[in-house]
Amino acid sequence: MTTPPVASELNLCLCHSCGLACDMTGEPHECERCGAPLHRRKANALTRTWAYLLTSLVFYIPANVLPVMNTKMVGNGADSTIMGGVLDFWQHGAWDIALIIFIASIAVPGIKFVALTLLLVTVQRDSDWARKERSKMYRFVELIGYWSMLDVIVVALVASLVKFQALADIEPRAGILFFGLVVVFTMLSAMSFDPRLIWDQHHSKNEEVMDEVASH
Ligand SMILES: [Zn+2]
Repeated sequence: MTTPPVASELNLCLCHSCGLACDMTGEPHECERCGAPLHRRKANALTRTWAYLLTSLVFYIPANVLPVMNTKMVGNGADSTIMGGVLDFWQHGAWDIALIIFIASIAVPGIKFVALTLLLVTVQRDSDWARKERSKMYRFVELIGYWSMLDVIVVALVASLVKFQALADIEPRAGILFFGLVVVFTMLSAMSFDPRLIWDQHHSKNEEVMDEVASH
């Protein structure tokens, strides 16, 4: 049984910018085609991913505890948090908006926290477990990142709808700022992670096995 060679054995490194497999003989620092900096692995990937992830977790608390908007219905104003808003919309029959806000602002960040923590812990422990599935999970986290701003858009949309009806007024509150920060920092966290790390140990273990087989 032969394992296909990895890029480092062939002394190749993929350019993140244009995708060219660059020859690393002579340790070039830039891609010969597009000039982007080359690195075999993202620098300090684990530390950075942890730092951004913990920062976003800290911001997740005020994002949920502080009110995100103030709705004024004929005179009396009321502040509402994300969860409060979800319940309000649900009770007033707007279950579709309630569902969108719940998925975008509570479920998506929650899934990202769990997924990134799982990826970080398993990579740090050189885990053999479900490498293929973990790679797929990372791609899924990247994919849902694009949809995270949905919530901010929903608030803007609801605000403009309410203003058109002219019966009520709606204003953003501090919570939405923290929510925006959660979105930005989870995105940075996902971008800092290097999915190739999932496979690194796997390959060197295989090599050890092959070496052992060869030496006998
Ligand atoms: Zn390039």
